[in-house]
Amino acid sequence: MKIEKAQVSGNKATVIFSEVEPHMINAFRRSLTVDVPKMAIDQIEIHLGAISDENGRTYESTTPLFDEIIAHRLGMVPVPTDCDELMKGNLRMKADCDCSDVGCSKCQIMFSLNRRGPCTVYSKDLEPLGDEKLKPTDQNIPIVKLTADEGILIYATAHLGTGKTHARWQAVHAAGYRPIPNITIHQDKVKDPERIAGNCPRDVFEVNKKVLKVKDLDACILCRTCEHEDLGGIGAVTVDAKTDRYIFRFETDGSVDPKTAILYTLDRLTEKFTDFEKDLSELK
Ligand SMILES: [Zn+2]
Repeated sequence: MKIEKAQVSGNKATVIFSEVEPHMINAFRRSLTVDVPKMAIDQIEIHLGAISDENGRTYESTTPLFDEIIAHRLGMVPVPTDCDELMKGNLRMKADCDCSDVGCSKCQIMFSLNRRGPCTVYSKDLEPLGDEKLKPTDQNIPIVKLTADEGILIYATAHLGTGKTHARWQAVHAAGYRPIPNITIHQDKVKDPERIAGNCPRDVFEVNKKVLKVKDLDACILCRTCEHEDLGGIGAVTVDAKTDRYIFRFETDGSVDPKTAILYTLDRLTEKFTDFEKDLSELK
């Protein structure tokens, strides 16, 4: 398995893999989706009773939404996860941390959310207790709308987890791949190059001085419209879908950068297969 090309743009990544079998690329997709850990809010404490502001005015700690809905929305807010520390293995699941379930900087991040209406409460209102850079990067996720005299005071705790447990810990989304085809043009059989190029729904071909050429191979979706016999010659174009090259695309929710997601997944897969090999060798 080789990475021929990797392009990262913001939270999105495109990777071209070569010398790879279909089962390997699928194992990468599955592991990428469920094995990359991230921080997510999974524990909240909602203040009940009156909330006072600095001028002594009191607000009712009530909102138009059930507490469970607010808890769910906070759980889905992408929480920044320190990628350097993650790769060094310095972030821990709460159950595995050496703080004995007390909670420390390796296994949790604490936030406060204190707003009074009338206003819309957004993810940017989550204030980390400690490092300011742990503020949610996606700032404009609406949580709840408060009317006059309504207030909300919440203490939220984020822990490390993986997508295997719950979608709130799924850092990678929309992960998909497809083979990069081999397109062969048999120029001696091409009767109508303009027609072949014009019928391609993804604009893969171009015609230059009446010669049919491949313009954008990555755009090909293997529909094989160009292979149709009535498009200007039997066997003028052949598309070979059997390939060991794949284009892989995915995006993250912003809590983990795509490069870290790729590196972590490759490490995790190596570790899994090494363990499997070791277990097999110990069989009698
Ligand atoms: Zn800890």
